[in-house]
Amino acid sequence: MTMNRHLDDSTLMSFAAGALPEALAVVAAAHVAVCPRCRDELATMEMLGGALLGSLPGAAMRSPAPAAPEIERHSSSRPAAAPPPTTQGAAVGEVPAPLARLIGNDLDGLHWRWVAPGSWLRHVPITSGRLHLFKCSSDVALPEHGHEGSEITMVLRGTISDGTGLYRVGEVCDIDENVEHAPVAGTDGCICVVAQDRPARFRSLIVRLTRPWHGM
Ligand SMILES: [Zn+2]
Repeated sequence: MTMNRHLDDSTLMSFAAGALPEALAVVAAAHVAVCPRCRDELATMEMLGGALLGSLPGAAMRSPAPAAPEIERHSSSRPAAAPPPTTQGAAVGEVPAPLARLIGNDLDGLHWRWVAPGSWLRHVPITSGRLHLFKCSSDVALPEHGHEGSEITMVLRGTISDGTGLYRVGEVCDIDENVEHAPVAGTDGCICVVAQDRPARFRSLIVRLTRPWHGM
C-alpha cells in the first residue's frame, strides 16, 4: 500500500540520533516498520550521522569507535530494531511490532476505558512521553487537546481526517506544538495510537462530550 502521510524529517533525524522520547520513538518505529520510504530515509540519515560523527575534530585520534557504538546503541534501543523481516510490510498484522511489544497484537482484546459516547481510551505505560490508544466510532472526534510539545498519531485501523486531510492505516500525522487539530474517525471508525512528549491539555469536557452530537 502506498503511504502518503509520513514522519517529518526533523522527527526522523531525532529518531536516527536516538533523541526522541520513548513514546514518540515507539510510534515513529511503528511507522518505519510499515513504510519503506521512511525506512530508506532513516537509513540515509543514520549513514550521514555516522559519517558526520566520524569527521568531527578529534575523531581520528579517538578512532571511529565513538561513532559506531553510538549508532548501534540507538539502533538497539529503538523499539523497531529487534523483529526480523516478518514485521516489515503491511501483511503482518494490525499492530506493527514496535507497538505490539507493548500492547500485544489483539486490538479487540484490549481493556478499553470508555471516555465519551463513541470514544474509548487505553493508556500505555511508558518511561518518557505519553502514549495512548484511541478507539472512536464512525464520525466521532478524538478527544480535543492542545499541545505543548510534539505529537505523532498513527492509524492502526480505519481512517481519520483533520483539517490537513485523510490518514489511512499506517500513515502518521506528525505535528509540533504550533498546530492544533481535531482528527475525526472515518465512516468505519478508527483505532489510532497517539504519542506526545508532554501531557496534553484536555479542553472543555462539555465540548468533548457533546461533539458526537454536533457531528464535528
Ligand atoms: Zn513514511
